[in-house]
Amino acid sequence: MSRRRYYRRRKTSNTSSTSTSTSLTSYTNTTTTTTYATTTKTLNIDSLAKSWFDDILKTLDLEVIKKYFNEREQQEIVATILEHFIPEGVRYVRKDQIIDRISRAREYAISYAIQKILELKDEPPPELLELIIYYGRQYLVPYIPKLYQLCKKAQKDDLIPILQSIWEMHIVQQYLPCPYCGFKALTPSLECIVCGKSIDDKILKEIIGFDLLFSEFLERCSEAELKALLDLGIVFFNSKEGLTLKPVPGDLNYPIYLDSKDMSRIRKKLS
Ligand SMILES: [Zn+2]
Repeated sequence: MSRRRYYRRRKTSNTSSTSTSTSLTSYTNTTTTTTYATTTKTLNIDSLAKSWFDDILKTLDLEVIKKYFNEREQQEIVATILEHFIPEGVRYVRKDQIIDRISRAREYAISYAIQKILELKDEPPPELLELIIYYGRQYLVPYIPKLYQLCKKAQKDDLIPILQSIWEMHIVQQYLPCPYCGFKALTPSLECIVCGKSIDDKILKEIIGFDLLFSEFLERCSEAELKALLDLGIVFFNSKEGLTLKPVPGDLNYPIYLDSKDMSRIRKKLS
């Protein structure tokens, strides 16, 4: 005898499927499971995830996550994958078709799983680091400082260049490179977003090749600007224009406080 299951679309990502239980029946045969909905109801992804999570994790070779996530969390991870493979508003799907689609786009499917894994686990276990970093793509960006620390802790430094390339591909701001971790993640307050270390003005000057830039800058300055510079005792560096008297709107501007040697160079230029 066939059983037919009806689903109602979930309202939010963390809504459980309990609201649908009164009208549920399902249709199963030996090869496929087809899920139907009435004309007024669409699929509930959470309910599908609840029924299919085992098969989908197996298809993606993601059974390792069972060690670290309870059944409800595994279902949430699978629901995140399904959201990308079941078009909005569809009223029925076939399990074998969806699994086939997921299997053909395996790398994307795993990246969606990792998006959820990172949401669920504040500190992913070392065993999952390779999986997360190899497949996480742009979903890793907000977690890169944490993942960097975990790689260091687990002595998995070989994964750091992958994090670095993802960071540089997805971070729009042109931060200066940090001399400690190598990521372009040094903020104008001279702290690194990724490794958390700070540098001083002396190191900043070395990073940007200040001596040469400053010579060229002084050549460009008018007398009035040189006097203003002496008065202010500060210049700004940004990656587009080099040294400037004032911060450039819309750019990252690194303030550089001039030392006595810099000030005497200005005085020499004025004399
Ligand atoms: Zn750093």
